[in-house]
Amino acid sequence: RSKAEARVDGSTGVKFSDVAGIDEAVEELQELVRYLKNPELFDTIGIKPPHGVLLEGPPGCGKTLVAKAIAGEAGVPFYQMAGSEFVEVLVGVGSARIRDLFKRAKVNKPSVIFIDEIDALATRRQGIFKESTDNLYNASTQERETTLNQLLTELDGFDTGKGVIFLAATNRRDLLDPALLRPGRFDRKIKICPPGAKGRLDILKIHASKVKMSHSVDLSIYSRNLPGWSGAKLAQLVQEAALVAVRKGHESIFQSDMDDAVDRLTVGPRRIGVKLG
Ligand code: ATP
Repeated sequence: RSKAEARVDGSTGVKFSDVAGIDEAVEELQELVRYLKNPELFDTIGIKPPHGVLLEGPPGCGKTLVAKAIAGEAGVPFYQMAGSEFVEVLVGVGSARIRDLFKRAKVNKPSVIFIDEIDALATRRQGIFKESTDNLYNASTQERETTLNQLLTELDGFDTGKGVIFLAATNRRDLLDPALLRPGRFDRKIKICPPGAKGRLDILKIHASKVKMSHSVDLSIYSRNLPGWSGAKLAQLVQEAALVAVRKGHESIFQSDMDDAVDRLTVGPRRIGVKLG
């Protein structure tokens, strides 16, 4: 794959049933699926089509997963790139990638465009520095601004691309250029929060269902005793437990394998907390 080509997944195969712990966000995102399944209906009834959606939250809580689930549920192509892939010193490369990404998505509409780590590409522009310290306003800054301007242009001309949903994710909204957050560009900003105890249990159940977990394992111990663990960390826990089980020659994952896996993934005092749980 050349770097300038957006990744295209025919179908992501991800469903909302693969996502847990962020029920409110999922509820809100259902509307995008309804739209992607039948953009003409929205048009006929006279509903303004959804524009861009910013998914905001800490790493590993399911931003990419839920974006893929939207495309998967609607059965439409998913065009994914990371913000860092647009950051180039070579003049014009970043903006060409943006144009290419939107063009491909429009040709294959209905479709979903997803830019992960949008903050890498859409960092607040530095007009003040430009005037005061010219040396800071170097070629790469200028190039990034050109890329960001191209993105803004694409978002503003989005009506022509009816049937394309633009999703972006960030865990540093504070770094984003205000122009990107102006109304009409992202018409929705959705928080993807770390899961609570119930969410952690549901996430563990999803990942446990993908491996051979012994029925005697009480997953609620882990959901109760691992506050702050993200979905990604919980998925990693189940994978680690599976590795431990294999290493010990167990035919399925036992509670002791889960405990060992927690130990391996934990540093500091939480260790003791879990053992007592
Ligand atoms: P980053 O900001 O680091 O890109 P992210 O919020 O996009 O993180 P994902 O890439 O979606 O996080 O999560 C990584 C993996 O962790 C997922 O593929 C999935 O296996 C698991 N995971 C994360 N959140 C959830 C969740 N809410 N429900 C189920 N699994 C989850």
